[in-house]
Amino acid sequence: MNIPNGPIIQSDKQIFDSRTGVMIILEKISRLGRGTFASFLDLVFPRNCLYCSNSRKGGGDFLCALCQQEIAYIEPPYCHCCGVPADISYDFPTENFECAGCRKNPFFFDCARSLGHYDAALKKLIGHFKFCKQPGVMKDLAPFLADYFRSQEESWEGFYVVPVPLYFRRMKERTFDQSFLIAREVARTLGLPLANGLLRRVRDTDSQAKKTKAERAKNIKGAFEVDRPDRVAGKNILLVDDVMTTGATANEAAKMLKRSGAGQIHVFTLARALPFGNVIESASDKADQII
Ligand SMILES: [Zn+2]
Ligand SMILES: [Zn+2]
Repeated sequence: MNIPNGPIIQSDKQIFDSRTGVMIILEKISRLGRGTFASFLDLVFPRNCLYCSNSRKGGGDFLCALCQQEIAYIEPPYCHCCGVPADISYDFPTENFECAGCRKNPFFFDCARSLGHYDAALKKLIGHFKFCKQPGVMKDLAPFLADYFRSQEESWEGFYVVPVPLYFRRMKERTFDQSFLIAREVARTLGLPLANGLLRRVRDTDSQAKKTKAERAKNIKGAFEVDRPDRVAGKNILLVDDVMTTGATANEAAKMLKRSGAGQIHVFTLARALPFGNVIESASDKADQII
């Protein structure tokens, strides 16, 4: 994937709705207040690495250089549809390997990919981002996004970047929408338009944590709407969220977009929580439980 050089002036390419402006203002207020206080604390009490507690010298604002290097990217073999890494203890993955879940119940989206495994330093970083309300974490994550997309062979030319929306009340409580911030960075990295108003979350949902795959799908059903199908029809969409676990949320969002005539829908998340690992308890929607 060719990553464009130099800054991308994106304002003329964004598709705004009223939420976008509010989110940017809330984010700026939040960052201003926290930024000043954090700078003061940093001066008096230098913070250590969020994950290993050692000095951050040479690293980012939140992780030391060693923990940054240890962020585990998801690499092939993985399901060419949902992107879940193949379990090579019993799978014999080929280039077009399709996992059992996708063969049995295909998703509405065309494919999903994640930057890294939802564990260790990346899990800690995302948790800090969401649960401790630290949008500044995106600054540490941005180089990883650039590295990741540079390594990909797919082309997203002609795609629109759409964040999986948060329910408006929750966004106001948190003062920012993590998926929007990730999507904005993805759009900037790939030089694609950010289309924040295409999808709307119309109802609150219970926490997805500790729910089975079927329960998650039922819980999220009907949570999204498309107000203007004419703005969705024919568009290829890169749907962005923070963490994907069973794919129920992305699938429900993709279903509504496809019903409105969307073309290809690719999903990208920062992290993938694996159902056969030890990390499913802390999926994307845990934020809904905590806030
Ligand atoms: Zn560290
Ligand atoms: Zn799959």
